[in-house]
Amino acid sequence: MKVAIVTGGAKGIGRGIATTLVRRGFRVVLVDIDAQSVQLAAEQLGRDRAVGLCADVTDHPLARDLVADVVRNWGRVDVLVNNAGVGQPKPFLELSPEDWDHTLRVHLTGAFNWCQAVAPHMLAAGGGRIINISSVSANTGGVMSVSKSAYAAAKAGLLGLTRGLARELAPSILVNAVCPGAIATDLTQARFDALGPVLTQAIPMGRVGTPEDVGEVVAFLAGTTPLFMTGEVIDLDGGQWIN
Ligand code: NAP
Repeated sequence: MKVAIVTGGAKGIGRGIATTLVRRGFRVVLVDIDAQSVQLAAEQLGRDRAVGLCADVTDHPLARDLVADVVRNWGRVDVLVNNAGVGQPKPFLELSPEDWDHTLRVHLTGAFNWCQAVAPHMLAAGGGRIINISSVSANTGGVMSVSKSAYAAAKAGLLGLTRGLARELAPSILVNAVCPGAIATDLTQARFDALGPVLTQAIPMGRVGTPEDVGEVVAFLAGTTPLFMTGEVIDLDGGQWIN
């Protein structure tokens, strides 16, 4: 049975991705900063199919140790989904250096940590898939988003990491990114409620997305069939940012 690691997997998009991957026959390792919620999410997916690990993705040695544990216990790691993230809605002039650092550390350094932890195992096993959850904000700068410049910079950095790793780790490991638009989760719901119909009117498909919408695209990229595709970025926004 193939094994996928999903960071930020306790809720929202990460949980939607994990649920979809379990339905597609994967075993899933959920990694999240909140011990209680990650355990609960794993139990709800089924003890034989999911395990919850409490970790801050910014901790580099911990990522390496936990991936080694996963390989020891489940024999392999086939897929990594870097999804853990935080909002950063402060206007630029109100951002402290700590706000800036924290935003980049969670989104970008966290992805670096987990990519570097899984890559040796994937290379030794002959291949794998890495999927980075960026955002349309990487290209728009965060228009109508709950997150502004620091978030957009972190998510744009994640696209650079995706493209660089895709070149370095080919042909064994395929590295792609998904850029969700407006997806209803704890991170966004209050902002979406405040915007009301203005938001859905701006989306050609007439609705915001769900975590399962993201799960479907990730399952395609994670899938077991050969894929002639690496270093690519897929927008997933109901057509809101067609260009
Ligand atoms: P969410 O509901 O807040 O879920 C994010 C998860 O990541 C939470 O469980 C959170 O834990 C966890 N997390 C935060 N910091 C962490 C850390 N340092 N280490 C480990 N886990 C950590 O957010 P979401 O909306 O599902 O977002 C998931 C990803 O999609 C994020 O990268 C986000 O930027 C991206 N995204 C979201 C949207 C959207 O519209 N929702 C659009 C584009 C991109 P706590 O809540 O306990 O802190």
